[in-house]
Amino acid sequence: MKILKIDHLGIAVNSIEEGKNFWSAILGLKFEGAETVEEQKVTTAFFPVGESEVELLESTAPDGPVAKYIEKKGQGIQHVAFRVEDIESALEELKAKGIQLIDQKPRKGAGGAKIAFLHPKATNGVLVELCQR
Ligand code: ZN
Repeated sequence: MKILKIDHLGIAVNSIEEGKNFWSAILGLKFEGAETVEEQKVTTAFFPVGESEVELLESTAPDGPVAKYIEKKGQGIQHVAFRVEDIESALEELKAKGIQLIDQKPRKGAGGAKIAFLHPKATNGVLVELCQR
């Protein structure tokens, strides 16, 4: 498997509008627009930082994964995303090595990316996302 870079950091927030006050107005990161991914009950907003990005995640429903995360742990870094060259083969390789996956197959993420999550039990407690663009 070839990991190319940290693609983005996913940060769970109560409100993207409110989050923009710090990430964009104060830090000066450029807001690249928001996108809702209905299957995940989440709206995401991307802010490029050099080669990587900050992704703010706002839940669209009280039972969405981001809402549940905030309920349990509060706002904060929810996942780390690595960009891979070939997500299908990366998942096959991890499966073969006995790593517990949340997504057995890639699904559609924001910006048309293919994404898949690994189980935090297998990653020292970090929710790891693989993505291919
Ligand atoms: Zn992400």
